[in-house]
Parts: sequence; C-alpha cells; structure tokens
Amino acid sequence: MKKLLVASGNAKKLVELRRIFAEVPGLEVVGPADVGGIPEVEEDGDTFEHNARKKAREIAQATGVMTLADDSGLEVDALGGAPGVYSARYSGDEGASHPGGQVGANNDKLLRALADVSAEERTARFRCVLAVADPRGPLGDDEHVSAGSVEGIIAVAPRGDGGFGYDPLFLPEGRQEAMAELTAPEKDAISHRARAASALLPFLHGYCGKDA
Ligand code: IMP
Repeated sequence: MKKLLVASGNAKKLVELRRIFAEVPGLEVVGPADVGGIPEVEEDGDTFEHNARKKAREIAQATGVMTLADDSGLEVDALGGAPGVYSARYSGDEGASHPGGQVGANNDKLLRALADVSAEERTARFRCVLAVADPRGPLGDDEHVSAGSVEGIIAVAPRGDGGFGYDPLFLPEGRQEAMAELTAPEKDAISHRARAASALLPFLHGYCGKDA
C-alpha cells in the first residue's frame, strides 16, 4: 500500500478527497492526525499553484510521506478576482467578533462588497489546485499538479447549511440551489476540488501501480 497524506486541517476537505480517492487500489489515504509532525506552512504565494506546491513539498519533506496539498478559493469577477488566494482570511480580524466566526465574517464581507452589483455581474468561480509531492519516490524534486474549477454566481443571501466556507453564497451554473443546499454526492459531481481530484486519478493509478 502506498500512503498518501492529505495535508489539510479542514476535515470536510479530507472527507471529500477520501471519497474520490477511494477507487484507487493500493492507495491508503491518511490525514494529519494519522501522521503527526506536520509543519505549519505559510501560504505566501500569489497563486493557488504556488501555495499548493510549496505546502506539498515542505510537508512531504518533513514527514517522509507522499503528500497532497490543496489550495483553493473563490474568484469574483466584479471584485477583480478577489478574494482569490486570500479567501480563507478575506475579512481579516472581523471573524474574532462575528457570531459566525471567520466564515460568517467572510460571507458578510462578500455580500457587502457586492451590495450594488447586479445579478448579471455577480459571476464567480471556485478554483482548486492539488499538488502531490513525494521527494523520496519517483517524483523526486518535482510535484504533480492538477486543477479544477466550477463557474457560478454569488447569491444575495446565504442559503443552505451543507458544505463549508462560501458554499451558502455560491450558486453553481446550471443548478437552482446554492452549493450548501446540495448533498455531498451532488457537490462531488461538480465541485472544483472534485474536478481537480478526478484529474489526478490517472496519475495516482499509475503511481500506485508502480511500487505498491
Ligand atoms: P485554503 O484552505 O487555504 O485552500 O482556503 C480556501 C478557502 O477558500 C476556504 O477557507 C474557503 O473560504 C474557500 N473555499 C475553498 N473551497 C471551498 C468550497 O468548496 N466551498 C466553499 N468555500 C471554499
């Protein structure tokens, strides 16, 4: 069995990725709690790819385990692509005093920023980049990268309580519901992360077949 550490502190992301990678024979998906000794990596890049590669590389080096890191976020066209790589910390310190914590403060700030923006101009997309690093294996000093996105528009008020983050405000193209109103399998069928993870499957099948 080849171990893949999914280096995310977000339990919901771990669950989403585990569901998708379950089909790869010879692959054991583990989380941060199963491995330990995971360094904190600063996401200081200005692209999702930079941050995902850096996280995967540094954590794989520290743990000795093949590592997958994810960087993702929401790009809103009317805001010039913001919050983008800053999605998790969009509202800065506002989260400390917001009843909904950082996520509630982020969503409120987004609604405020778009208060005067018409329905046609509220276009947005979730993007996800996944990077796999395995410095002691055939990948050497390189990382394998895959990406996925899902187009949609930003709602005028939150809807639903599934998913996480900006899901209550994101209306995916071709659906009547917000992302947070979809069931987990419905989100998996269209999400940016699921698309990036599906794009990674051929690599994982080949890689795990090699020396499993
Ligand atoms: P990351 O953990 O640095 O990748 O931060 C990504 C941030 O983007 C999250 O904290 C959310 O705010 C947002 N985000 C990423 N993926 C999703 C998603 O699937 N639904 C809702 N928000 C998301």
